[in-house]
Amino acid sequence: QFRLDGQVALVTGAAGGLGAAQVRALLAAGARVLATDMAGEGLERTFAGDLQAGAALRLAQLDVTRDADLAATVDSCVQNDGSLDILVNNAGISRPGPVLDYDSGDFALTIEVNFRSVFRLSQLAGRAMAAQGKGGSIVNIASIGGMVVDGPTSSAYDGSKAAVIQITKNFAVELAEHGIRVNAVAPGYIRTEMTQRYLTDAAYMTNLMANKIPLKRVGEPSEIAGAVVFLASPAASYVTGHTLNVDGGWVI
Ligand code: NAD
Repeated sequence: QFRLDGQVALVTGAAGGLGAAQVRALLAAGARVLATDMAGEGLERTFAGDLQAGAALRLAQLDVTRDADLAATVDSCVQNDGSLDILVNNAGISRPGPVLDYDSGDFALTIEVNFRSVFRLSQLAGRAMAAQGKGGSIVNIASIGGMVVDGPTSSAYDGSKAAVIQITKNFAVELAEHGIRVNAVAPGYIRTEMTQRYLTDAAYMTNLMANKIPLKRVGEPSEIAGAVVFLASPAASYVTGHTLNVDGGWVI
């Protein structure tokens, strides 16, 4: 029930900490994967070993802010990999800054990468999946920042993630008639490049573990990947429009 044999998955932001773990978990569950990232070299470095070991994996550079490239990637997935059954909208950026002085360029880019690309790529993938006529699954990587305020300087990021949680529901309702399920995962603090600056702040982390996270530890990328595989798989065949918190209990 948790297997994905015969399915093709497209993952964005795959060179990053969470994306790479998702790609490997999808491969382990039997899927063929098209792993994409803006950082083409990082992608090649990250997955060199997997390719050498013969993984059912193809790499492609993709900046999710480029509409034409989104469309070309979906087409290439259907044509070269034979299908598009699973989309994981994982690419994301975090540009902290106080709300009254927040840089307008950072605001535009955050919304573009974290929200608009999710809408646009889900639209393109949804059309391709509907045309295939065999259903599909979309998993959006949101954040608990889309539900609670973690610190005073994440307004654009948090707003973009709240928007992702909302459109997960809109897409779920509208794509249901095509047998396409749409869900989100909301990670708490996970050990990756993105959270490095917080993880090395001892006072911040001590307070967080003592007062906010019942499981009293940071999460690992594989713990997000497991939730992604579950939501993508037949084990979640009656789950749609849901946001699954994977946060050690932070937002309880
Ligand atoms: P990361 O910084 O390690 O990786 C992000 C990846 O996205 C990078 O490889 C980067 O090159 C890529 N990327 C950035 N802009 C892009 C663009 N325009 N087009 C394509 N790729 C682009 O971060 P991560 O921790 O792996 O984060 C993955 C996702 O998980 C993000 O959406 C993030 O918001 C979300 N998230 C992470 C945490 C956490 O604790 N790490 C918590 C909540 C949510």
